Amino acid sequence: MGGGISGYGSAILARKKGFGVFLSDARKIADRFRAKLDEWQVPYEEGGHTEERILAASEVIKSPGIPDSAPIVRKVREAGIPVISEMEFAGRYMGRAKCICITGSNGKTTTTSIIYKILRDAGYNVALGGNIGESFAYSVATGNYDWYVLELSSFQLDGMYKFRAHIGVLTNITPDHLDRYDHCFQNYIDAKMRITQNMTSRDWFIYSGDDPVIREQLPKYDLRMRQLPFMAHSAVASGAGDAFLCDGKFTAVAGKHAVEIDTAKLQIKGLHNAYNAMAASLAALAAGVPPTKIRRSLYDFAPVEHRLEPVLEKDGVLWINDSKATNVDSVFYALESMTRPVVWIAGGTDKGNDYTPLKKFAREKVHTLVCMGLDNAKLVREFTGVIPEIISTDSLDAAMKACKAAARPGDVVLLSPACASFDLFHNYEHRGELFKEWVREHA
Ligand code: ADP
Repeated sequence: MGGGISGYGSAILARKKGFGVFLSDARKIADRFRAKLDEWQVPYEEGGHTEERILAASEVIKSPGIPDSAPIVRKVREAGIPVISEMEFAGRYMGRAKCICITGSNGKTTTTSIIYKILRDAGYNVALGGNIGESFAYSVATGNYDWYVLELSSFQLDGMYKFRAHIGVLTNITPDHLDRYDHCFQNYIDAKMRITQNMTSRDWFIYSGDDPVIREQLPKYDLRMRQLPFMAHSAVASGAGDAFLCDGKFTAVAGKHAVEIDTAKLQIKGLHNAYNAMAASLAALAAGVPPTKIRRSLYDFAPVEHRLEPVLEKDGVLWINDSKATNVDSVFYALESMTRPVVWIAGGTDKGNDYTPLKKFAREKVHTLVCMGLDNAKLVREFTGVIPEIISTDSLDAAMKACKAAARPGDVVLLSPACASFDLFHNYEHRGELFKEWVREHA
């Protein structure tokens, strides 16, 4: 069910393994996926679900974008048909390959991209998949990889039962996507903690030792794998190794191997990226990459697009695109990492945000807040008395003009919205692209 990247890959893998397979999508399937389905002779439908065909299945592979509340999913479950995710399905056919799986509320894409780069630079036969890169199932069907680096959302973890990560990374757990978890934080936490399921004493679990939610959860599980916490504030003991940030430097240790990193030499900035670098170093050490190679690739790693991505410095004003910051915690770290006065663009579709954690840095660092959204009332109310100047706009063009007028030499203009983008844009990429385009043309 679902003809996007995870669905088309699963269908092709199922076909290759000799199953009778049928793909169904309630909406239109993208041309490139349709072409692949035709090439592999996978029957499919789009624009609606034919119930009889779906309910005749012995197993359903559901794309992570389809919520459990969808009527067809309910019917499938009521019929007692197992519902699994792409990862669960493709994991059965991985053979002897190993996988490094990364999840968490924030930092997944960045950490996954760093790990993939380190392994690829080191000459590993590695594929990138999950939420980014190619479909994992498609890579399993068509490639012959030794390693998979997989970014996992909570929705993918929901449909995973027997799947086992050889190296699991949990970056952090903060409230997000609660609309899909009955507005219950614990349900979302439980989904994230599934990253540890089925791990054995030969596997590695890398997690934030500073994260209070993770620390509280760990004693509830009977964990056999080797644990590698990374931290900047706490002291969590582990016999298997760890990474600790002190005075801008850290040493990551996994078993007998260690790598020393000076975060001042990284191109990705801020405490959150130091966490991501620690997590990635530990994962790479656990995967057996030599420390000198880890260091070289880490220093060479540039920010992923739309994540605190410097666009341009003009007339002493630095414009930064952090359009991917769609929740409060990611903006917290964006503001934390700012070392110059800030003109901050925020707003969009509010997901029930509590802005309290942002107020300290907003007070210290932000002189102008430019709200960009169809409904800015909540933002204006929350930051009145916190930020001296607040300007309400309802279009990108108006917001950008206001920023240009407000920014002084030495300032940063930071797009870090804390909200989803769907009121004014197709998605966060679209928002970031338009921001960059405006900056390049008018800044
Ligand atoms: P994800 O894939 O989990 O959404 P990204 O790497 O795409 O994570 O980053 C999303 C947003 O969160 C960006 O604004 C980024 O600057 C911020 N961010 C990245 N790493 C972390 C982290 N470890 N903790 C908090 N925020 C982070």
